[in-house]
Amino acid sequence: MSRGLLLALVLLVSACGQREAQVHDTQLLVFGTLVNVSIWGGDKDTAVAATSAVEQRLVQMHRDLHAWQPGPLTRINHAITARKSVQLDSEQALLIRRGTELSRQSGGLFNPGIGSLIGLWGFHSDDGPHGPPPGDALIQIQLAKTPRMSDLHIKDGRLHSDNPAVQLDFGGFAKGYAVDEAIRTLREHHVDNAIVNAGGDLRVIGRHGGRPWRIGIRDPKNSGVIASVEVAGDESVFTSGDYERYFEYQGRRYHHIIDPRSGYPAMGSSSVTILSKEAIVADAAATALFVAGPEAWQTTAMAMGIDQAMLIDDQGRVYMTPSMAARVHFEIDPPPPVQIVSP
Ligand code: AMP
Ligand code: MG
Repeated sequence: MSRGLLLALVLLVSACGQREAQVHDTQLLVFGTLVNVSIWGGDKDTAVAATSAVEQRLVQMHRDLHAWQPGPLTRINHAITARKSVQLDSEQALLIRRGTELSRQSGGLFNPGIGSLIGLWGFHSDDGPHGPPPGDALIQIQLAKTPRMSDLHIKDGRLHSDNPAVQLDFGGFAKGYAVDEAIRTLREHHVDNAIVNAGGDLRVIGRHGGRPWRIGIRDPKNSGVIASVEVAGDESVFTSGDYERYFEYQGRRYHHIIDPRSGYPAMGSSSVTILSKEAIVADAAATALFVAGPEAWQTTAMAMGIDQAMLIDDQGRVYMTPSMAARVHFEIDPPPPVQIVSP
């Protein structure tokens, strides 16, 4: 996807400046985006074997978690529509459980059960969404069916839904899960210092030699970098933005992050960046806080256990938690107006 390519290139700016002989860098075109696996230190054979294992794992997850190409997830969705129970494998059960918990914490703003709504907007398409937007009557019909993750129950490894309108779309947190799995795979191969960067969304373990990894955060208004942050240890950085997938119709932009309350693309935010340990949490929280918007993002952050968040609103104003503000370095001059908001 071009958006992934673009941001990966932007973010490589920081990596390239620090390139050293000890860095083993590989680009993988998987999971619908360009994934950069960068391993620092260790021997080359280990790095090659670890990267190849990551690639296999990502290819497998992309197939298993796809929301519209026929596969394991669409089979589950068909069963839910048909009011039938369906056997889950352990990964599917884990993702549904975690998705349900993250949805509950977000007060339903993150809702991976609104696949029908996302499909209605045309985002379940390989060649990108085109518009026009769906008619309001169709949106209201979908909303009235109130698909919620709490409608789902897993018993003895089988999934049952109280509501046939629930349709799973893991797009809001699958990349986070995949990045966590990639890091787990690297660790299994005894890699201690690495970064897995999936089109700008990433997780870091260890250090980049004697210094942390420097990460660029994209300016939602253009393809440049608005700010940077240094990460080390074990941390993830995930961004949700209105520039990632969208169509334009009659001069208006319709993006892919849907407010489950209105059925329309969420209003007020341009991008949200989250720092947290687990990528799956950072990914889900970025989507949830984007939906919450400039007025309510802190409440949602607190409810999801997030203390490092940055929201850029549709006017270019920046809102940050104090612990995020302590780490963010603006790369544009003059820096944008910033509001630091204590939870
Ligand atoms: P992200 O880029 O992580 O914010 O994820 C956006 C993707 O998540 C969309 O392309 C949809 O597949 C899905 N999605 C859209 N709105 C929501 C929502 N409110 N909750 C959960 N997933 C969503
Ligand atoms: Mg997300």
